[in-house]
Amino acid sequence: MDFDFKRLIRVIPDFPQPGILFKDITTLLKDGRAFRAAIDALVEAVRPLRPEVIVGPEARGFAIGAPIAYALGVGFVPVRKPGKLPAETVSVTYEKEYGPDDLAVHRDAFPPGTRVLVADDLLATGGTIGATVELVHRLDGEVVGAVFLIELTYLGGRAALEQKIAPAPIVTLIRF
Ligand code: AMP
Repeated sequence: MDFDFKRLIRVIPDFPQPGILFKDITTLLKDGRAFRAAIDALVEAVRPLRPEVIVGPEARGFAIGAPIAYALGVGFVPVRKPGKLPAETVSVTYEKEYGPDDLAVHRDAFPPGTRVLVADDLLATGGTIGATVELVHRLDGEVVGAVFLIELTYLGGRAALEQKIAPAPIVTLIRF
């Protein structure tokens, strides 16, 4: 089955701020056959990387990372804003467009040396996934790849992420 995945992404101008072209994935997620086909395509692309765990940032990283983990039969580890995870955490501060932000992961999320695939819905500047990669490194995980439903090719996120994880590959399904 060949889906026109791009057509199922709703583009909303000026959300959440003026000048941003927001890529709304809910229009793809609610289409059961398209959602399954998109996850299946990503699963087959990342399977050769042999990840032992998938790590994804809230909230849309859960919608992509968890089903990939389920399909591969590996664990899923949530990365969250501070104060949301109940056990002991490690956190990082990173720069967003309008100032600093924090992300955290459970300190015992996976053992040192684990093969980790990081996952999110969308790669823009690479700031969010860069912070996620940093958390994985802080836990001495090995990043074996990064996977996204969507890549915005005009923001330089791929080059920024490559600097952090190369030669591990970056897999994306839909490009704008
Ligand atoms: P960045 O950290 O710049 O790579 O931004 C990636 C994160 O912000 C992802 O978790 C996305 O969900 C969200 N994001 C950034 N830009 C957009 C956009 N144009 N449309 C939808 N989501 C976006």
